Amino acid sequence: MKIGVLSVQGAVSEHIGHLENCDAEAIAVKNRESLNNVSGLIIPGGESTTIGKLIELFGLAEMIRERSRQGNLAVFGTCAGMILIAGSVTDGIRGQPKLGLMDIQVRRNAFGRQKESFETDLDFRTFNSPLTAVFIRAPIIEDTGAGVEVLAELPEGIVAARQGNLLATSFHPELTDDLRVHRYFINMCKNQ
Ligand code: GLN
Repeated sequence: MKIGVLSVQGAVSEHIGHLENCDAEAIAVKNRESLNNVSGLIIPGGESTTIGKLIELFGLAEMIRERSRQGNLAVFGTCAGMILIAGSVTDGIRGQPKLGLMDIQVRRNAFGRQKESFETDLDFRTFNSPLTAVFIRAPIIEDTGAGVEVLAELPEGIVAARQGNLLATSFHPELTDDLRVHRYFINMCKNQ
């Protein structure tokens, strides 16, 4: 089983390193051929507008939508990746590109200037101790549909959620040494 990290812009190598440290086979996904070979795909943090435009241009967006809707691709969006997989985005640019996979409403840059970047301990459902979560100009989930399970929350709102083969976090689990979120996603890829 191979797991891909979308490699058009953003924090790619850190995700590949974490997947490898979990003993998963990780590849960088840059084109349709490599996308076709993976059971799961991580869409990293970066700039959602740039990543979104490039995946449309490279013909990857349609393939991600199709494979994930057919249930043979698990998708994990971190930060900008979470914005991209959301069904609805507030405070996006006009024509904000999106994949529209998950029944969540996400607000871009939701933490404001004072708290642009911060880290905090976070309770993540199913983990038996808190994890340190790193937020960088992070989005937040403001609303969820019926099939969405909330996995972590801050006073400001929801910061991690799952819907079937889709996982989204506002924070960057690739920037700490804790591998539990990546292990959680690898299990989703195995069990789909
Ligand atoms: N604010 C960025 C965006 O809108 C996301 C930031 C990140 O991924 N660290 O795309």
